[in-house]
Amino acid sequence: MKRIAIVGGGIAGLSAAYQLEKQHRAGADLEFVLFERAERLGGVLVTDHIDGCIVEAGPDSFITEKPWATALARELGLGDQIIGSNDSDRKTFIVIRDRLVELPDGLMFMVPTKILPTLLSPLFSLRTKLRMATEFMHPPHKIEGDESVAAMVQRHFGEEMVDRLADPLLSGIYGGECRDLSVRAVLPRFVEMEQKHGSLTRAMMAARKRMAEMSKGKPKPPLFSSMKDGMQQLVDALVATIDPRAIRTGVEIESVCRAGVEPGLGCLEQSDRPWQVKKYDGTRESFDAVILAAPAHVMSRLLEMAHAELAFELGAIKYSSSITCNLIYDRKEVAGKDRGFGFLVPRSENRRMLACTFVHNKFPHRAPADKAIVRAFLGGAGDEAVMDWSDEQIVSAVQRDLREIAGITANPRTIRVYRWRSCMAQPSPGHLERIARIEVQRQRLSGLALAGNAFHGIGVPDCVRTGTQAAEQVGLPQTIPAPAPAR
Ligand SMILES: Cc1cc2nc3c(=O)[nH]c(=O)nc-3n(C[C@H](O)[C@H](O)[C@H](O)COP(=O)(O)OP(=O)(O)OC[C@H]3O[C@@H](n4cnc5c(N)ncnc54)[C@H](O)[C@@H]3O)c2cc1C
Repeated sequence: MKRIAIVGGGIAGLSAAYQLEKQHRAGADLEFVLFERAERLGGVLVTDHIDGCIVEAGPDSFITEKPWATALARELGLGDQIIGSNDSDRKTFIVIRDRLVELPDGLMFMVPTKILPTLLSPLFSLRTKLRMATEFMHPPHKIEGDESVAAMVQRHFGEEMVDRLADPLLSGIYGGECRDLSVRAVLPRFVEMEQKHGSLTRAMMAARKRMAEMSKGKPKPPLFSSMKDGMQQLVDALVATIDPRAIRTGVEIESVCRAGVEPGLGCLEQSDRPWQVKKYDGTRESFDAVILAAPAHVMSRLLEMAHAELAFELGAIKYSSSITCNLIYDRKEVAGKDRGFGFLVPRSENRRMLACTFVHNKFPHRAPADKAIVRAFLGGAGDEAVMDWSDEQIVSAVQRDLREIAGITANPRTIRVYRWRSCMAQPSPGHLERIARIEVQRQRLSGLALAGNAFHGIGVPDCVRTGTQAAEQVGLPQTIPAPAPAR
């Protein structure tokens, strides 16, 4: 029987476990054990129920366009629990000199596709508007190698666009600075568009037209999807399918190495010796294969003794930390001040808050009619220092920002602060080349698979996909078609 270890019980590790469980139930001769350092499973997916509100500590939704999380939820029997964002109220604001300025209509990510709303918007200076007009004439352009998102956006639209849109939009997703994010990893479509059309505006306008034709007569899918009772619902449904004997929570893994190989002498590539998984209590267990589904800096530490080169490449992937601060108000106290889905704060505003979501507008059923949930996002690559602040300091900074930006002066009924240290991978320029090197090294180590947010996307759907693929890499071919495990 093939024995497989999974290290890490976040959504990536659980997705891998689910696939292995399916293979096992379909008759594959394998068993697996999932090791999770924490006492609970789910990693950064945590939902709390407070004062009748559904409060997300980590991710609150996922992009509908990426199908893997939705497909998983459906397979788990949660199809009727998938909800869409309330796009009829989807307005986003940017803070410019302490005032909220609405994103103009027709902006696709940061590319304008409607001339009049962009021309009339106070979001951009005359200089940037002129830059947008000349961008229309950009000839096709091929960049050798990679560059930062900031470099590409700057080349097309100028510095103001980097500060006011590109950076705040991406810091809301990666907690990262767009000067340090790889354009090829983060915005591959922009790279293709630049090569083919030159002007991003022209390319986006054409894409918009194509999309409109294709979706004629069809209902528009929501931009974001989530689970009715919170993201934890996905975790709970996954866990319910897995044999409890295969799950070991509260167990931290210290290293992963081939049996019989002296520490520091490297892993025997293509060796058929078993893998040894060493726990922090000093005990070891043997497995035929290992799936690592922890952050890349943890994988690097685990593989240090086994494969220095692979450990180095994994350790070179940077991570950022973040904080979500959820405040529950009486709805009447914030009425009129809670505009749209919320706002983003450019770095040049010199505030602690990076972004703020009015959850009750984005996903109305998450708060009863008389409550409002305000979710602030802090930290990121540019502000690691805030991670060491006390809850009181964080809440005081958030309340000051809410007062000065949105005019919210009321005291919240309930506050929850959640810290996420080194949890968000930062694909910096050269990321895809690094991932390709990692993949070559991984393939030389038979029985090793890697999953999680360090590789091909940081979002929940991307992590589901990497977990599924990792199980396919080290699992066994199914002998009969696999039904979804009963819940
Ligand atoms: C605040 C925040 C908001 C986000 N918002 C969104 C969003 O709205 N939409 C979206 O799509 N994505 C969002 N993301 C990103 C997304 O949630 C994550 O990238 C994804 O959930 C990561 O899943 P994972 O399984 O790879 O890692 P994790 O969830 O980090 O899980 C890794 C697990 O490994 C365990 N572990 C670590 N070391 C060891 C060890 N040595 N031994 C055993 N176990 C170990 C950890 O305890 C953890 O449980 C957000 C992330 C954060 C932090």
